[in-house]
Amino acid sequence: MTILENHSLKAHHTFGLDVRARYWAQYAGVDELVELLHRFADQPKCFIGEGSNLLFTGDFDGIVLHSAMCRAAALNETDTEVLIEAQSGLKMDELIEQLAAMQLYGLENLSYIPGQVGAAAVQNIGAYGVEVKDCIDSVKTLDLSTFETRIFNCEECQYGYRDSFFKREGKGRYVITAVRFRVSKTPILHLDYGNLHSCLAGIDNPSPEQVRQAVIAIRKQKLPEVDEYGSAGSFFKNPVIAAPLYDTLHAQYPDMPSFVTSNGYKIPAAWLIEQCGWKDKQSGRATVWQQQPLVIVNNGNATAEDILQLAQQITDSVNERFHIQLEREVEYI
Ligand SMILES: Cc1cc2nc3c(=O)[nH]c(=O)nc-3n(C[C@H](O)[C@H](O)[C@H](O)COP(=O)(O)OP(=O)(O)OC[C@H]3O[C@@H](n4cnc5c(N)ncnc54)[C@H](O)[C@@H]3O)c2cc1C
Repeated sequence: MTILENHSLKAHHTFGLDVRARYWAQYAGVDELVELLHRFADQPKCFIGEGSNLLFTGDFDGIVLHSAMCRAAALNETDTEVLIEAQSGLKMDELIEQLAAMQLYGLENLSYIPGQVGAAAVQNIGAYGVEVKDCIDSVKTLDLSTFETRIFNCEECQYGYRDSFFKREGKGRYVITAVRFRVSKTPILHLDYGNLHSCLAGIDNPSPEQVRQAVIAIRKQKLPEVDEYGSAGSFFKNPVIAAPLYDTLHAQYPDMPSFVTSNGYKIPAAWLIEQCGWKDKQSGRATVWQQQPLVIVNNGNATAEDILQLAQQITDSVNERFHIQLEREVEYI
């Protein structure tokens, strides 16, 4: 167990802002986590993975808790699938790399997304037509009030678009300690999204590793590398709008891309932001990423205020022009 006082969080979140935590603690087992929870019972708590979906708006006057539990093992196996349990602190991309090397299908479209296994199950991470919930069997948690283990099946996690029970009612009540994934021995491929199909043209029945490499190549073209540019990936969610507004906007902007969902029309936020002229625009020391306007990057020494201001200006201009209120994907701490 590691406990540090008045610790800089610069290296512990991908925006790379120079903020501090009153305490920083890393635990290597559930027993250590329980000990920390007892010892720092009176402190406000922030559970952190790789900090790749967080914006610290200032110093954190409490304890930041980081999982260093990083094991993964197969629990069960049938002719067609394998049940894998991965601990919360394992990097999701390391798990996917291991699964691809074992020829197991299911998670390869989520390659190269930063972050830990525990947070992936909180966020319901998604990319290229796959969400992590598609492979989640169950989620193992520690109840923060009773210190007992509780396992949630996938339905109980109430997954939605970048949403789960753990982001709402379960926040502050449960910490995820491990996730069980069901992955397939037989091909289950999702190649219809973006230019994944064309990247794999000429390859019949691509292996999980081939899909993984194609995803990584596409992501490297579009998204900033976390160790070069501070960001938290997509800053905003893609909004879903009701039919009357969609009809009005479609008449005005016939080229507006959209996807029909069960509760309306999903419009790519990147398109809305680009239409408002934000691509590559700077405000203070924060910039809208040229290749993907959903991403706000830290130019090097941005403050939270620079990022907050730019995000607000983008939200206001999209609202003014399209009457759509963008919802942020990044969590403010
Ligand atoms: C360059 C870049 C690209 C990205 N691309 C994508 C993408 O394609 N798709 C996508 O969905 N996301 C993407 N993201 C966002 C981000 O990677 C995911 O949201 C990821 O799951 C966050 O993981 P993390 O470990 O960094 O979590 P953190 O940001 O540290 O935490 C996220 C939330 O989970 C909570 N949490 C963390 N660990 C636990 C735990 N063990 N138990 C309970 N709660 C916990 C935290 O308190 C917080 O509320 C991207 C981010 C970056 C920087």
